[in-house]
Amino acid sequence: PVLRVAIMGLGSYGNRVAEAMQSCKRAKVAGVISGTPSKIKDWQSRYNIPDKNCYNYENFDRIKDNTDIDAVYVITPNALHHDQVIRVAKAGKHAICEKPMAINAKEGQEMVDACNNANVKLLVGYRMHFEPKTLEIIRMRKEGELGKIMFFQGLSGFRIGDPNQWRLNKQLSGGGAMMDIGIYSINGARYMVGEEPVWVTAQETKTNLDKFKEGVDETIQFQLGFPSGAVASCLSTYNMNFLDRFYLNGQEGFAELQPATGYGPIQGRTNKGELTQPHMTHQTVQMDEMAAIILDGKQPIVAVDGAEGVKDLKIIDAIYLAVQTGKKIDVKL
Ligand code: NAD
Repeated sequence: PVLRVAIMGLGSYGNRVAEAMQSCKRAKVAGVISGTPSKIKDWQSRYNIPDKNCYNYENFDRIKDNTDIDAVYVITPNALHHDQVIRVAKAGKHAICEKPMAINAKEGQEMVDACNNANVKLLVGYRMHFEPKTLEIIRMRKEGELGKIMFFQGLSGFRIGDPNQWRLNKQLSGGGAMMDIGIYSINGARYMVGEEPVWVTAQETKTNLDKFKEGVDETIQFQLGFPSGAVASCLSTYNMNFLDRFYLNGQEGFAELQPATGYGPIQGRTNKGELTQPHMTHQTVQMDEMAAIILDGKQPIVAVDGAEGVKDLKIIDAIYLAVQTGKKIDVKL
């Protein structure tokens, strides 16, 4: 069977996902949820979507009665994910939610609970968890080829433009660069090191107080400590382009990716040489794999469920607290 997905939020990433899904074997765009009638018309003709599979933000609870939709992919501004995913769950549909799944761990956990109660799956759009070079490094680390892991460096950033966009509005974004792009280094630190951090320290720098208002972080440097003694040192910023690099070092070897999380091709090498796994459009692979997770109960190599999303949010909560207090914050995931 094929996973029939309604896309909620027909913005820039929603368009990218839908385009990539045209090459999917197991998933297809079957419906839309949007507040803009002209976009709905456009999508209907592009993806051959019947009127009965089109909804807006007021009436999408009615998707409950639509037997032609299996799942809703929420691709809206961060702060809206919480209520939207809970409504999807109550409508009895599986939810796929973009990162960050919410704007704090409490809201993330409420989404997990709502989906459990409704007996639907909740997956988070962690496309790197299916990326072949990333998975090769994870394999090498698991099989001991890098020796005992001691250090990870994650650098994630881009220069943000238009000061009026939702990403710079705390009400809609829930934060700044950390919520949007720094989360890649947080998530990457966890799947590269292969452990959950037990403490966090963090320092913030702001060079533009007009553009980056209260609660919207421009640049944060943070450190994570792991139970084995491994440490991660990371930078999240909205003020540098081409900042996209992961570096993992064990006692016997290294692995690096640069770019590490962009749309690809991802490039990398280890102490053994270049990584040569072929590039595949991330969103195509992600949606085929998510269809297998939802329809066949397949277990992914790195988790992409709601619990995984909550872990990153617990770390983000701790990073913001560390910035505020200047203290080392213990975390328990
Ligand atoms: P975008 O601004 O291009 O699109 C957002 C869409 O949400 C727009 O179509 C907008 O009309 C709609 N929307 C609905 N209600 C809204 C409201 N109240 N205010 C503003 N817009 C509203 O943003 P985007 O880049 O597509 O990002 C959407 C989500 O996808 C974010 O959570 C982002 O973090 C995530 N994202 C993920 C990736 C990835 O690689 N996984 C990449 C880009 C974005």
